[in-house]
Amino acid sequence: MISDTIAAIATAIVPQQGSVGIVRMSGEQALAIAKCIFSAPGNQTWQSHRILYGYAKSPDTGETIDECLLLIMQAPRSYTREDVIELHCHGGAIAVQQILNLCLEQGARLAQPGEFTLRAFLNGRIDLTQAEGINNLVGSTSPQAAQAAIASLRGKLAQPLKDLRARCLDILAEVEARIDFEDDLPPLDQAWVAQQLALIAQQAQQILDTADRGELLHSGLKVAIVGRPNVGKSSLLNMWSRSDRAIVTDLPGTTRDVVDSHLVVGGIPIKVLDTAGIRQTEDMVEQIGVERSQQAAQEADLVLLVIDAAQGWTEADEQIYQIVGDRPIILIINKVDLLDDQATQTNLTNLTQSALSNRSEQLAQLSDYQSSSDLPQLDDRKRFMATVKTAAALNQGIEQLEAAILASVNASAIQAGDLDVAINQRQKECLLRAVQGLAKVQEAIAAQLPLDFWTIDLRATIMAIGEITGESVTESVLDQIFSRFCIGK
Ligand code: GDP
Ligand code: ZN
Repeated sequence: MISDTIAAIATAIVPQQGSVGIVRMSGEQALAIAKCIFSAPGNQTWQSHRILYGYAKSPDTGETIDECLLLIMQAPRSYTREDVIELHCHGGAIAVQQILNLCLEQGARLAQPGEFTLRAFLNGRIDLTQAEGINNLVGSTSPQAAQAAIASLRGKLAQPLKDLRARCLDILAEVEARIDFEDDLPPLDQAWVAQQLALIAQQAQQILDTADRGELLHSGLKVAIVGRPNVGKSSLLNMWSRSDRAIVTDLPGTTRDVVDSHLVVGGIPIKVLDTAGIRQTEDMVEQIGVERSQQAAQEADLVLLVIDAAQGWTEADEQIYQIVGDRPIILIINKVDLLDDQATQTNLTNLTQSALSNRSEQLAQLSDYQSSSDLPQLDDRKRFMATVKTAAALNQGIEQLEAAILASVNASAIQAGDLDVAINQRQKECLLRAVQGLAKVQEAIAAQLPLDFWTIDLRATIMAIGEITGESVTESVLDQIFSRFCIGK
């Protein structure tokens, strides 16, 4: 049983900012500690699910620290299912920290990261997937990521998993009963078992299929913008960031040379690794940013290779193309506004339209394109996922660029699907084990192996699913068997 009382500041601490700061306590002593450090004028009653108005005061010196609201949530109607107290004081860094110190002086212990949620889990209020959902919600960087987290928080992941696990337990119970009490029971319906296992495996696989989406929503897509100086990388990034897609652009750091921008495109958080942009490094040939481009390209999931439409495919472009290596590339032909040649414009349009769909057609059009102008000398070796023309300085082409990016990551799979949830790496690993276990049981049945062999892999599957939700396995397997078969006589 957990007996100590934990305390922590629940809001972000920003010196001199924020209108409200919250200190939270959970545990048996929370209410007693609150009574020591908080004075409520008048005849306000210390009752659960009430808000008291008053002052936080040092019990030793009598000094008033802040004017506060105090929330009382007594067990079990609280986040942790323990007694929880929240003190809402003024923002900034000082008052909250002083109030936290008062709580600690009066016997609370500073909470570990995530410890309130851990207690909520240990006390059975939430399962592991919900706990992870809470964490993901706080950490989400796009509305879609938040949606997936809320789905998890609301049990939309736990519920199908618990269901799958319960069905595995049913099968296990049937099999074990045949091992222990073979003579007293009708023979096992092997066809039913096989059919059930196939269904369970299919549903587990559906949940497993959300892993890529989960990974993308969680980590986002790392995109590197590369290209020789003056092709318009900075302009492109600026155009993109100025649009309403931008959430945050990090300030140029003193230690890091790369400036990252965070955008959200089609629900996918995108981290743009700006390599040679922003900083003025365009003077010298070696400052082409070869090293940085290489580094960023290696880090990136997707590379945007920018060239200058008016200059075509140059030696330097070729050099950068070589640097990018085997990363997926979208070719951006920027400054198309400089091409007033109508024929070239048309060819560019065709090129862009066909880029996503038909590689050979694209190549054919590329040769047209080359014959009608001195533009990109692209050959068969160039493998671009798409070609997009932009005029960054004129804010043109951003929609096409985003469409090409979404197409490159199979965005339909990200947004569609029957399941709102998206599993994380840990859940994926457990679920993979579960699916493997199911396959082994199916093999054991097919090979007519003895029932004991079935139970080994069934248990492994149940254990693996239970690890996702946090259900303990050994005892509940036994519970299930005993409760279903009443064999305690
Ligand atoms: P970077 O070195 O690749 O980051 O290139 P910049 O973004 O700094 O752009 C270099 C120059 O090209 C600047 O003078 C921009 O105004 C200009 N530029 C960028 N994009 C375009 C465009 O689409 N059309 C035209 N005409 N000029 C552009
Ligand atoms: Zn620049």
